[in-house]
Amino acid sequence: MDIPRIFNITESAHRIHNPFTPEKLATLGAALRLERGTRLLDLGSGSGEMLCTWARDHGVIGTGIDMSPLFTEQAKLRAVELGVTDQVNFIHGDAVGYVSEEKVAVAACVGATWIGGGVAGTIELLARSLRTGGIILIGEPYWRQLPPSEDVAKSCFANSISEFLTLPELIASFGDLGYDVVEMVLADQDSWDRYEAAKWLTMRRWLEANPDDELAQEVRAQLTSEPVRHAAYTREYLGWGVFALMPR
Ligand code: SAH
Repeated sequence: MDIPRIFNITESAHRIHNPFTPEKLATLGAALRLERGTRLLDLGSGSGEMLCTWARDHGVIGTGIDMSPLFTEQAKLRAVELGVTDQVNFIHGDAVGYVSEEKVAVAACVGATWIGGGVAGTIELLARSLRTGGIILIGEPYWRQLPPSEDVAKSCFANSISEFLTLPELIASFGDLGYDVVEMVLADQDSWDRYEAAKWLTMRRWLEANPDDELAQEVRAQLTSEPVRHAAYTREYLGWGVFALMPR
């Protein structure tokens, strides 16, 4: 079981597979006022940076599930590096439908809401693992500027303009689902660069090491087009944030 190989190539050097910097992740951890021993669940945990650094900085414990064997392995290595192996646990697997045995104080899905078939379905899934008084974390894109055409939306890798909402609409949608938005930390254009631009050097180095790989042409094409595409589209039009929600 794995995600498409192209992501394991382009994001192999990422610790955070999202437009967040380490500083923004730390800001979010501090904003949530986490207490030692707080139990977390993270669906689509990637390379485990959120769980591992919050375990180090706030003494949280928890489990992450991710479909990429590479990212899951990197998460385990990060736990060793930060000395938190007794606090965190990373499972390689499909998080679709995953409900934890023990209820958690923080249930997160940060940048992988297709796991629940969209934002509403993911909130519903996470809520099944949440203890009373717990917090749901959703990481999701929104339109920073509304695209002037469907073509512009597609150049932001959205299927259509309607796939994402504006920030006020996204926040209102959480209310419509019966949740208070109790905190949020947003990406900015520079933190988008940390996610997107970091892929370019990784691609360049991978191409040099793997010139005859079956994906070499695809990676070459991406490295050629991505910097301009990112500057023209994603960087201008797409926002991203993590929203902390509590049921009303
Ligand atoms: N939350 C992490 C990773 C976000 S990227 C971070 O912020 O760094 C999206 C992640 O979802 C990837 O790591 C990918 O491997 C994982 N993923 C995709 N489909 C999945 C599924 N069905 N179950 C579990 N993980 C999945």
